[in-house]
Amino acid sequence: MERHESRVRSYARSFPDVFTSAKNEVLRSADGTEYLDFLAGAGTLNYGHNPEPVKQLLIDYLQNDGLTHGLDLVTAAKADFLDAFSRYVLAPRGLDHRVQFASPSGTNAVEAALKLARLTTGRAPVVAFGGGFHGVSTGALAATGSAHYKQGLYGTLPTTVHLPYPDSPLGAFDSLDLLRRLVEDPSAGIEKPAAVLVETVQGEGGVYVASDAFLRGLREFCDRHGILLIVDDIQAGCGRTGAFFSFERAGIVPDLVTLSKAIGGYGLPMAVVLIKPEHDIWLPGQHNGTFRGNQLAFVAAAAVLRHYWADGTEGAFVRDVRAKGAAAREHLAPLAARHGIAVRGLGLMLGLDFTRAAAGVTAAEVSRACFEEGLIVETCGRADEVLKLLPPLTVTDENLRRGLDTVVRVVDRLAARDAEAVTA
Ligand code: PLP
Repeated sequence: MERHESRVRSYARSFPDVFTSAKNEVLRSADGTEYLDFLAGAGTLNYGHNPEPVKQLLIDYLQNDGLTHGLDLVTAAKADFLDAFSRYVLAPRGLDHRVQFASPSGTNAVEAALKLARLTTGRAPVVAFGGGFHGVSTGALAATGSAHYKQGLYGTLPTTVHLPYPDSPLGAFDSLDLLRRLVEDPSAGIEKPAAVLVETVQGEGGVYVASDAFLRGLREFCDRHGILLIVDDIQAGCGRTGAFFSFERAGIVPDLVTLSKAIGGYGLPMAVVLIKPEHDIWLPGQHNGTFRGNQLAFVAAAAVLRHYWADGTEGAFVRDVRAKGAAAREHLAPLAARHGIAVRGLGLMLGLDFTRAAAGVTAAEVSRACFEEGLIVETCGRADEVLKLLPPLTVTDENLRRGLDTVVRVVDRLAARDAEAVTA
């Protein structure tokens, strides 16, 4: 791999093994080692690896020579997905957004949403937040915060104004007040923005959660000024935070929503923008792409919607996600108290922040040691200071406990090592 694959590879460096098969929350490597997967495709495998309710449907679809590629032609698979999405996701939440299929990565959905906001308002600047991650293609990269992805490219990126997120390593901040001063003061020095792009829970930035009050305030502010509110729900959506959309808890309706990762149901590539009808001003084909019609993803996506989401906004699946999230926090609370670790998050999107960990243990070494003990869990944050737990939402209670026990054991062991070193 070192010889043939580009230096740009990333997860492969953190989790160096050769993986051969996977089921639900368990990954297997070539030598038979089993890992619990609390990375889950960086939030893509919300229903686990190879979920049974979908697998046979995909096999049948292939067996019957269903289309696999369809540009944006009307196909039975796409029509079925749109029917299921409208029936089980949009309608129960009182949403009438249209669905735009983008090229199948999150960054392209963000790209489309930003373009559309600029087209519909006739203005160029976009407001995004420090710590936000929205992808790495040019338009989305401009909105991403991290210097790691932007180094050497700043001068090539479209106009974006970054505000501090309401919570960050530097503490709480009144982002709305700053936004108000920038937009309402004609001498503030910026053009009125086309849109505000926000993650309601920052995934890559360190699992910071925006409050309901902030989200409601942002919605009201955008309404007052004719600015579009775009929620990037690529990582936090599809049930991750304990509701289908991560913004439901605030009772707001964004103008545009981006979804990718778990929407494809089976880890299959798919990305969409949800558009309030009045903003759907695209010319036919204006934002196109060869791979906007991944038919297998449509089949899988429709199947998981029917299986997990057919019983309303407060159905069994989201109640289970919330219960598991609460159980995980309870499980980790004594460890956090012992070592001065901050626990943040919502549902099954949890972060352990080691910035002030008493024993000098770092999230990066915890991630490495967990891997050696059969748990795959990644880091995030400005300097990899946060351990991010993203198990499949379908993880069994037993394997959730086992994974968390591994984290507890590893942190305690590393802390004891550091304490011994200090004593010596
Ligand atoms: N937006 C958010 C919130 C994300 O977490 C990600 C990926 O992690 C993206 C956008 C970009 O998605 P992709 O990597 O599929 O381009």
